[in-house]
Amino acid sequence: MGDKAFLGDLLTDLYIGGRAVPAQDGGRFDVLDPATGEVVASVSDGTVQDAIAAVDAAEKASASWAATAPRERAEILRTAFELMTEQSEDLAMLISLENGKALPDARGEVAYAAEFFRWYSEEAVRSVGALATAPSGANRIVVLHQPVGICVLVTPWNFPAAMATRKIGPALAAGCTVILKPASDTPLTALAMARILEAAGVPPGVVNVLPARRSGPVVSAMLHDPRVRKLSFTGSTEVGRVLLREAADQVINTSMELGGNAPFLVFADADLDAAIEGAMIAKMRNAGEACTAANRFYVESSIAGEFGRRLAQRMSTLTVGPGTEEGTQVGPLVNQDAVDKVDGLVRGAVEEGAQTVVGGSRPDRPGFYYDPTVLVNVHPGSPILREEIFGPVAPIVTFDDEAEAIRLANDTEFGLVAYVYTGDLARGLRVTEKLESGMVGLNRGLVSDPAAPFGGVKQSGIGREGGHEGMLDYLEAKYIAVQW
Ligand code: NAD
Repeated sequence: MGDKAFLGDLLTDLYIGGRAVPAQDGGRFDVLDPATGEVVASVSDGTVQDAIAAVDAAEKASASWAATAPRERAEILRTAFELMTEQSEDLAMLISLENGKALPDARGEVAYAAEFFRWYSEEAVRSVGALATAPSGANRIVVLHQPVGICVLVTPWNFPAAMATRKIGPALAAGCTVILKPASDTPLTALAMARILEAAGVPPGVVNVLPARRSGPVVSAMLHDPRVRKLSFTGSTEVGRVLLREAADQVINTSMELGGNAPFLVFADADLDAAIEGAMIAKMRNAGEACTAANRFYVESSIAGEFGRRLAQRMSTLTVGPGTEEGTQVGPLVNQDAVDKVDGLVRGAVEEGAQTVVGGSRPDRPGFYYDPTVLVNVHPGSPILREEIFGPVAPIVTFDDEAEAIRLANDTEFGLVAYVYTGDLARGLRVTEKLESGMVGLNRGLVSDPAAPFGGVKQSGIGREGGHEGMLDYLEAKYIAVQW
């Protein structure tokens, strides 16, 4: 495609109260194209004062939005789904331009992101409560759901559209107003979402978007404003811990979608073709820059050699290049720090005895690239198995029996997702029950689905996004004891 004509119409200011406004101190920051390191656009850099103005706008819109008919909110979200779908090519190009991911991944993200608007347009009219007779028989118990109130939404750069819609969809369906603070590497997609929601009929102040490079003070100011009642954060566990502490000061309702360190288990009885296919999806979607990315491959010893060879063969055929070019399968990573981190983890593993079957270095070209890489004989204590790699690197470790596979898989403070490949369904379910993770892909390399509850256990998070559960995160249950 390569058509970037839409760039001239992009929103590059803050979006507060339905208007594009510059930062109060006039500050701006640059958004870079990871394929070249060149500037794509400059964006207003929100201040603490802007953050409070955004809360003012969200408060002003709050009562009337909460009072709209659920059907009306549903229709607006449905229109947003349709507009996103109509504009999917431009949005995919924009995502690719500021995030680096290859166009097929960006198109996949737009479709996934739009689905959250469709799903929550359908959920908006299904906010059911409960009626019961108290066990004593003395009274009735009525439970109704009410919007939690003004929400601060903080999102990462790796899925700039989907992480925003996964929060905005249920928040709006529930009747909440929001302030979205997108990642500084990818604010343009978030601002494009604001335009789409405005065109879909979202009233001024219901959705505010606040790009800000000084994310700490800006988010902190909002979390200390007594009008804010909810924080939904997606990002690293490290920042999640900081924000949980911040939210504690005003006992703010929190949802946390944090880091992952997904194990990918392959038993000797697995369909190896399916396992390789699943491994490619679980590892290479977004060039490995996904919280759900398979981070550690545990393969039963008898098939480990063949699995490693076949995976390396597939990885070596991938076309690496600018994400915005048709034909590219693996785009650049988001920035130089990301490349340095991946390179450091690979070098560390190799120094500890791992062998590189394919890749293992940065290609000699401008931009933030790393070659698709497969490592075998990785030392079990290696940092590459403990930290999120967030890049196109597959470290392989062998195991000898089911108990060892489960022990290795659970040996992490994370618990977002795990993948299991086996031809024995009973074994698959038995192992799945013992895995400490919020989600499991059983003979499947992709779990993300707007209709399913996405989220982690242990230090991967609190709460669920997507499915029916996702909307409950934006509702408070009010219990009324009634005597009639
Ligand atoms: P990050 O934690 O560095 O940043 C996330 C967001 O928090 C950004 O908007 C950033 O500007 C903001 N932020 C950073 N420091 C802050 C502070 N002190 N106070 C307030 N806000 C602050 O994460 P990232 O690098 O953007 O994204 C990658 C991480 O996100 C990975 O760990 C990945 O696993 C995780 N992630 C998790 C999920 C999930 O659903 N569990 C989904 C996508 C990404």
